[in-house]
Amino acid sequence: MYHASRTGTIEVIAGVMFSGKSEELIRRVRRALIARRRVQVFKSHLDDRYGGITRISSHTGTEIEAAPVDASAEIFRQVRPDTEVVAIDECQFLDEGVVGVATALAGRGVRVIVAGTDTDFRGEPFGRMGELMAVAEEVSKLQAICVVCGDLACRNQRLINGRPARWDSPTIMVGGGEAYEARCRRCHRVPRQDEDQTRIL
Ligand code: ADP
Ligand code: ZN
Repeated sequence: MYHASRTGTIEVIAGVMFSGKSEELIRRVRRALIARRRVQVFKSHLDDRYGGITRISSHTGTEIEAAPVDASAEIFRQVRPDTEVVAIDECQFLDEGVVGVATALAGRGVRVIVAGTDTDFRGEPFGRMGELMAVAEEVSKLQAICVVCGDLACRNQRLINGRPARWDSPTIMVGGGEAYEARCRRCHRVPRQDEDQTRIL
């Protein structure tokens, strides 16, 4: 087993969609590579695998390669003994084991950088992001810009056919034709079942 000379750490990059999480993750990975650290990058995904390799792209167009995973145990299996930095994007989709995986890696000296959306379309905690933020040494909570009013945005607005998705729509939609907007707390809309949707748009 590899014994690192430095202490491992967990860093979390959290926030809404469009807040710059991927940009920040890519930036940290690039800097680790400049420092000649041995880096492995993973990305949680819900769709089919594409040839064992995927990409992390930011909305500004920068990209890095990543290994697609759909279970946290796969990350643990794939990390090589001499890897110094492990970056994981889209962490909100990973199972509960991700907290233990990040903790175990940090425990053996790895710098773990995780990025993910910390609230779902309802504005509620998403997956294990909250726990990861609790066990991390460092948390960067990013905000986007509200597309309605221009304030800072801390919520993901889900739209289905251009209208706010209801509270009871599923947390994770795969290929559901939905769209997302960054919005502030005031402009965020999540109609309940019994509300007249036309009234609150
Ligand atoms: P995330 O990974 O958090 O979804 P990205 O790093 O992929 O974010 O993209 C962030 C970039 O998206 C910003 O630098 C900006 O150029 C662009 N962008 C598009 N819409 C918005 C918005 N509503 N608020 C902020 N940035 C936005
Ligand atoms: Zn707003």
